Amino acid sequence: MASRISFSPGHVALVKEEVASPSGRGVLVTGASGLLGRAMLAEFQKGGWRAVGTAYRRARGSLLRCDLLDEEAVRSLLNQHKPDVIVHCAAERRPDVVERHPEAAENLNVHATGALAKEAAAAGVVFLYISTDYVFDGRRPPYGEDDAPNPLNHYGRSKLAGERETFRQCPGAVVLRVPILYGEVESVAESAVTVLWPAVQQGAAESCVLDHCQQRFPTYTGDVAAVCRNIAERRLQDASVKGIFHFSSKEQMTKYQMAVAMATAFNLPSTHLIPLTEAPPGVSRPQNAQLDCSRLQLMGLGVEPHPFSDAITSCLWPFLQDKRWRQTVFH
Ligand code: NAP
Repeated sequence: MASRISFSPGHVALVKEEVASPSGRGVLVTGASGLLGRAMLAEFQKGGWRAVGTAYRRARGSLLRCDLLDEEAVRSLLNQHKPDVIVHCAAERRPDVVERHPEAAENLNVHATGALAKEAAAAGVVFLYISTDYVFDGRRPPYGEDDAPNPLNHYGRSKLAGERETFRQCPGAVVLRVPILYGEVESVAESAVTVLWPAVQQGAAESCVLDHCQQRFPTYTGDVAAVCRNIAERRLQDASVKGIFHFSSKEQMTKYQMAVAMATAFNLPSTHLIPLTEAPPGVSRPQNAQLDCSRLQLMGLGVEPHPFSDAITSCLWPFLQDKRWRQTVFH
């Protein structure tokens, strides 16, 4: 039987108001309208933080609209809200888009990151930058925090440059590298994991070829957010918590295996899913950029990742076409 995890299925956390913090700790989450940022804001609110989220095109509810390319707007935002911690989630993270628009991606992923890190350093605010396993080439996993990066595509290069800008402007910053993410989505296309769902659901009517070459570690956004809160809370007590950390789920899967796991979780057929064992065409991606997460664990800052089958079931639940399944599985 599939077990449910604590969030309500498909609930996309849009925060309605700035939550007062009993402890007075404040966090500002950039990219709070995005896949990870939504989970981040919800996690800090749950922990009793005074949490403010910024967005850009999707700014709604209590999310504050701020174009991070506008340095003056960023400065006045920080002056107004005076956070103790900034968790910087905003980025252009679609490798194909970065490939087509490298300059726009560089402006956001590198220059805006540097400007924000500089403001954070000047104001004595803890700066936590979310980065990616795509900084590695994927040829010699697993990767420790000190292993030499060698990104294969523009996206990875821009995120690595963002890391370097972060430390240049704010030497006491924290960088957290994470792999491919999934979570509560507004549409299945929002995550490179949940985007597989239509192919799974279409069933035997149409076969679908899926990558069974590149190894991935799909990681639940709620787990990443919990790790960030652990880091932020410890860092406010211990200034030596800085530098690079890795966090990842432990379940190694290709896209094909993710799709089969989704089918299994929902008792759907998977015989129409065809594994492709050659590297997929398009933007170069690492073969296996597995992250060694021992630094985080040794410092007691990690969390036990949710099992993929449980978390993905809850995330995909609202997008299940045949709701009769509802009566047969969750009982
Ligand atoms: P996402 O869903 O694409 O969200 C991107 C966010 O950036 C949105 O909130 C967007 O706001 C905001 N943004 C874009 N342009 C902006 C601008 N000019 N000013 C202010 N905000 C702007 O990204 P995500 O998947 O949550 O990724 C979060 C972080 O995790 C990124 O740093 C990414 O590199 C990293 N990461 C993601 C994955 C993954 O699989 N998703 C894997 C590894 C690492 P609007 O939509 O409101 O415009």
